[in-house]
Amino acid sequence: MNTVYNFSAGPAVLPAAVLHTAQQEMLDYNGTGIPVMSMSHRSAEFQSILYHAEQDLRLLLNVPDNYKILFLQGGASAQFSQVAMNFSHGFKRIDSVVTGNWSQTAHRQMEKSTAAEIHLAAHGGTQYDYCDLPPVSEWDISKDSAFVHFVANETVHGLQYRQMPKLSDGLPPLICDMSSEILSRPIDVADFGVIYAGAQKNLGPAGVTIVIIREDLLERCPDSVPAVWNYKAHVEKQGMYNTPATYPIYIAGLVLRWLQTQGGVGQMAFINRRKADMLYRAIDGSGGFYRNAIHPDARSQMNVIFSTGDAGLDERFAQEAALCGLRQLKGYKTLGGMRASIYNAMPIEGVSALVEFMADFQRKNG
Ligand SMILES: *Cc1c(COP(=O)(O)O)cnc(C)c1O
Repeated sequence: MNTVYNFSAGPAVLPAAVLHTAQQEMLDYNGTGIPVMSMSHRSAEFQSILYHAEQDLRLLLNVPDNYKILFLQGGASAQFSQVAMNFSHGFKRIDSVVTGNWSQTAHRQMEKSTAAEIHLAAHGGTQYDYCDLPPVSEWDISKDSAFVHFVANETVHGLQYRQMPKLSDGLPPLICDMSSEILSRPIDVADFGVIYAGAQKNLGPAGVTIVIIREDLLERCPDSVPAVWNYKAHVEKQGMYNTPATYPIYIAGLVLRWLQTQGGVGQMAFINRRKADMLYRAIDGSGGFYRNAIHPDARSQMNVIFSTGDAGLDERFAQEAALCGLRQLKGYKTLGGMRASIYNAMPIEGVSALVEFMADFQRKNG
């Protein structure tokens, strides 16, 4: 039996050390005699788990004091609507940057969630055929917009802003979906009004979504927004408005602690760059057998997409790779091809094994 490496885009690989700890603590958390998942969310033990998860996240991302952190449910998909419901009251326009599958979905869902117009500030599909990203200088932004929304890493299309966008002073707050890249590299939180991320890509299991909100924006949340969708209501109740996803928060907390033992996001960024470079070199060095048409500056370091150009061969690649312990390499349903998601918890050995398999597969089929 080969070692198994899991390249799933999400829910995705978790650090083995985290799963071992969870296994050990499964039936008896810290001598309490009860499992975390059966513990009151108001108990001292769970309050401590939540507190430490938040503090560790603050430390890892250097989150300034004027930002609140929430652990919500509903996934990043819920955030598409929630940001529009909470932050556009009294505004006529939201600026939306579409660069792939997820920002397109966000755009459509924002349209259903507010009376404000969702203005297409840039479109990477029509402008660049999803092979490059519109730079901030090309975004059509109004200073009167409620906010500007974009996705830092497009999980499906394999595109990533390698240089994180930043707006100049006087422009609206920047709201970013970082679901598939949060904690993969250092960021300057102060450049954003809101950052949100579903946990199941790079942070934990499905069921919890991290939202980091600049405090002053909470003043915008209208009372007419029902409490469960209202950021201000969640902040006022210290994240305990209703039962949070206790077990996913606990696992995310273990991942956050693991990240610190690994040297934090700076060290992660270094390793992530190495892993991505190994894969793109293998693709570019295959003499055209493997293809990725994305501009090198916009290639994702988290989700590496590639294809042989032959759907049948791609299918065989994913099947044979799985037999060799390289699992879940099949591309997104609408795009086909292959996708190797190489989040923080994917060890460099997994990428080496994939690169070796790629060369072997090419020798047999090229
Ligand atoms: C996976 C993903 C989503 C959707 O997340 P859900 O938790 O399924 O709602 C949104 N945005 C990005 C960038 C993603 O990768």
